[in-house]
Amino acid sequence: MINFNVPPYAEKAMGYIQECVKNQKICGDGPYTKKCNEWIEERTGTAKCLLTTSCTHATELAALLVPDLGPGDEVIMPAYTFVSTADAFVLRGATPVFVDIRPDTMNMDERLIEEAVTERTRAIVPVHYAGVACEMDTIMDIAARHHLAVIEDAAQGIMATYRGKALGTIGDFGCFSFHETKNYSMGEGGALLIRDQGNVEAAEIIREKGTNRSKFYRGQIDKYTWINYGSSYLPSDMNAAYLYAQLEIAEEINDARLAIWERYYDNLRPLAQAGRIELPVVPEGCVHNGHMFYIKAKDIGERTALIDYLKQNEIHAVFHYVPLHTAPAGLKFGRFHGEDRYTTRESERLLRLPMYYGLELEQVDYICGKLREFYR
Ligand SMILES: *Cc1c(COP(=O)(O)O)cnc(C)c1O
Repeated sequence: MINFNVPPYAEKAMGYIQECVKNQKICGDGPYTKKCNEWIEERTGTAKCLLTTSCTHATELAALLVPDLGPGDEVIMPAYTFVSTADAFVLRGATPVFVDIRPDTMNMDERLIEEAVTERTRAIVPVHYAGVACEMDTIMDIAARHHLAVIEDAAQGIMATYRGKALGTIGDFGCFSFHETKNYSMGEGGALLIRDQGNVEAAEIIREKGTNRSKFYRGQIDKYTWINYGSSYLPSDMNAAYLYAQLEIAEEINDARLAIWERYYDNLRPLAQAGRIELPVVPEGCVHNGHMFYIKAKDIGERTALIDYLKQNEIHAVFHYVPLHTAPAGLKFGRFHGEDRYTTRESERLLRLPMYYGLELEQVDYICGKLREFYR
């Protein structure tokens, strides 16, 4: 069976984890957490990176950093996304306002955002689907004119850029995921990227249960105390050690994923040219990270048949995201602004093919051969 995903692993991880255990440094904000934070800061150019227990928690932390966000406030986001994008804001009592996506990138359509803005709008949450950037210049311009916060859901976007800027560093806050299905993993984990130095202290406090313990550890104060609401969003340093081994070879992992992506693309181009399937689009100015390779079938019926056919041939392909506005919680907590022209239709056509660090190019050729067979 060719798996859909295999969690990434780097050789050195085991030694690093043993070191954590031997030195009895397994709690949060230890040496490996610091190394990961610094690596991400250096690589992306963000003012501050804080490792978290998940991207979900990074987004919650960001939602807690939007001043006075609460019931009645609105947050604009796509409905074609993972539930965490909305959950973080629903937990604060805010209403997700879903706008339609662009059919080419599956990202929120930037041309539809401004008409969804009301007096109660407080933030925009672009999701960089498949590591392909949203149209951030337009989004940042709308946010500036309406005084809205921008929180990038860059769960899939590490190592990808928009007009030279790392995804996750353009909005006020950016959220990475290190779940085992992402390009780099720590089992469960994530990171909050903070663009402005002025927001760092507040973020550190909320992440440390509402205390100024981070300042205390740096020796800036003599004792720490409870100064705001907060929670606990620190991962164990063992998880960070597992991740750090991958960050050290981040370029190699990224190149391997891009090679797989290109192999799929080249192999499947004739099918696309014959009008049988559609392939992903990467707009000019966007450099992606090979997070995902998807194709689009004619409709949901053809997609179901295709998944079955691939399964018979020992290939595990998947789809995802029931659009949030059609889910029970989405109906209860959110609303869709405007017309759902593409969100439902395109999500029903999309099929994700196996993609992971370590997938062989010969396996990609085999998968593409089976796809050609199906369409013959
Ligand atoms: C994976 C993912 C998340 C959640 O990440 P976790 O680290 O599992 O919390 C959020 N948003 C998007 C778009 C994702 O792909």
